[in-house]
Amino acid sequence: MTIQHTLIKKFGFMLPKFLREDYSPYKCKVSVNGINYDFRTRRIHWQNKIKTWINTGKNPFIKPVECKTCLFDTRIPNIYIGADGICNMCMTYKQNFKQEILDSELETFLNTPREEGATIDAVVGFSGGKDSAVSLITARQKFGLNLTAVLVQNGFIPEPVIENGRKLCDKLGVELVVLDIDLAPYVKEMMDNNFKTGYPCYKCGDMFYKEIQDYCVEHRINRIIMGRNWWHWIEPEVRSTKWVTDEKSGMKLQIFSLPFVLQLTEHDIYQILDEFGWSTVKIHGNSTNCVLPGLVEYAVSQRLGYHPELQLLSREVITGFLDKEEAKHQLSEVRDNTKTLEKMVNAKLEEIKDRNNEN
Ligand SMILES: [Zn+2]
Repeated sequence: MTIQHTLIKKFGFMLPKFLREDYSPYKCKVSVNGINYDFRTRRIHWQNKIKTWINTGKNPFIKPVECKTCLFDTRIPNIYIGADGICNMCMTYKQNFKQEILDSELETFLNTPREEGATIDAVVGFSGGKDSAVSLITARQKFGLNLTAVLVQNGFIPEPVIENGRKLCDKLGVELVVLDIDLAPYVKEMMDNNFKTGYPCYKCGDMFYKEIQDYCVEHRINRIIMGRNWWHWIEPEVRSTKWVTDEKSGMKLQIFSLPFVLQLTEHDIYQILDEFGWSTVKIHGNSTNCVLPGLVEYAVSQRLGYHPELQLLSREVITGFLDKEEAKHQLSEVRDNTKTLEKMVNAKLEEIKDRNNEN
């Protein structure tokens, strides 16, 4: 036992609360990827480093201390490492994960009746990428659901990706609906602030959910399937499904993370796609459908000191979807695509301007 541990045992009651108790990263209530890294976030980050130092005996102010199991380390404000070398995200996940809960969520999802007036069972949030493709295949073939694939075009999903997605839908006999959103003005604003005020994928996620939800309400569809590989909630228990009540109609919608519920791994995903005879279009970055993550990774990595997709991949390592070494490998190749990003965003802004002038 180290001196630190002996002292904590003896004088623990005198310590501040953050040193005495364990807590999840979500309890810290700070935004990820250094967005709005304000005084409060700095203080919490500092506390988590002190906590890590005392827990592990390793000084994170000199060198980041990494979790034994996942990719999280003390460069991330809401992460601390416990005495066992495991981060607070891994700790929370292990404590709160129960397979029975996921099984019952699947049962609820499959047994939910259609709303009156609905002509199909569920919408699949289809991005043209690997995970949502597998969700579409599984929901259609394994669960026998009648589906519509809804692809939200944020302006950064290449046409070949959409065409390739259309082939998959045709083969499954599923209608593909493409909805457009304008993400470029937001990307421009974030880019001009060196991504200190936001990360494009988070903004896109918000707009995406709103778009899909509106589509579902309009068509009276109460179930949405996502190709998400990790939890929707981690507290008080790990859950895969998010329930949303539409304000205007009062309709209750389930947003269901199919690969996570079935506990699929990345290996399973590629195997299912192989067997089905479909593959994704290869693009740079940690995405198999949208070019944005690969275009912004350099600028954000430069500012943060770590890859912005570390947050996502680490979650995928915690759930067992991805191997730690494989995840590290996927984050290792950072390319400076700043010029391409600027060009693309400006071209998109011109397009939007022209469209507005026409109307
Ligand atoms: Zn961890």
